[in-house]
Amino acid sequence: MTSPDSGAGSAADLPDYAPIPRSALGPALNDQGYYVGRVERNLYYVTDGVYQSAFLTTPDGVVVFDAPPSIGHNLRRAVDQITAAEGVSNTVTHLVYSHHHADHGGAAFLFDGDVTRIGHEETRRLLLRDGDPARPVPEVTFADRYTLEVGGERVELAWHGPNHSPDNIYIHFPGHDTLMFIDVVNAGWVPIYNLNLSEDVIGYMGAPAIALSYPWTHFICGHLGRLATRDDVAVHQQYIADIEASSREALASVDPVPYYVAGGENFWAGVKGHLDAITERAAAPIIAKYTGVLAAADIEIFTTTTTFAIMQSLRLDRGPSGPVHP
Ligand SMILES: [Zn+2]
Repeated sequence: MTSPDSGAGSAADLPDYAPIPRSALGPALNDQGYYVGRVERNLYYVTDGVYQSAFLTTPDGVVVFDAPPSIGHNLRRAVDQITAAEGVSNTVTHLVYSHHHADHGGAAFLFDGDVTRIGHEETRRLLLRDGDPARPVPEVTFADRYTLEVGGERVELAWHGPNHSPDNIYIHFPGHDTLMFIDVVNAGWVPIYNLNLSEDVIGYMGAPAIALSYPWTHFICGHLGRLATRDDVAVHQQYIADIEASSREALASVDPVPYYVAGGENFWAGVKGHLDAITERAAAPIIAKYTGVLAAADIEIFTTTTTFAIMQSLRLDRGPSGPVHP
């Protein structure tokens, strides 16, 4: 994979990163490249080691939650494997989108026919905009809350504002002690670039507290191999809080004047020098603190880009962006 700072490097030139703690990895995959595990009772999750989806088996059929293309046909195999073992129907009757992104929903088209697709109203709007045949639009939508009842089971869908994406919802399984909430917390790992490629920084930063306000023991976070715990969410919150505090300190302490003087009439050169200096000062202690705590914390650009996004949001969303001219 190339990244903005990888230059002309090839895959063979990857730096010698810190080892990944065993606790950050999930169970071994089978020969077909997936693992399906029971979350609780008739709720299961499926992973390829990097992506996660989930399904609920009921006497009236199966409800699928997200269909990442990287899991693809293995999602059907996992459903068939479990429903055969349980002796229940393998017919997928419902598909729930967590949000509109193709990397979590791009295999939705595999579940066609008489399937009811459910998503936030913004998910429908964005999917209509994007026009991807792999992600058929949900015909059942909701604004704030939706209760899905299938085969005696209940699932509570809720939208609490934009975070990672404008439409990312909380999927609560009250009868399974489980919350599914995608692309904010990576269990045991740092977020990738820009807070996991998130659009609303303030919403992203507040989302873990909303997740923790639900009662649950098991957390399906959408990425990597294992389920998350409440402790995983707390460590993630601390990582983000540390970046926020570090960014505030750096914003207050880096003097912009020398950068603008050096930039001369190239004002953008001054901006770059100033903001890069703030970002570097803010990110360095975070990278040092979390290397060995969160997997891949030593891939510096992840924390650096996340720090840049938070630092900019502190300036632009929270304010002030700078002194008011006298
Ligand atoms: Zn996403």
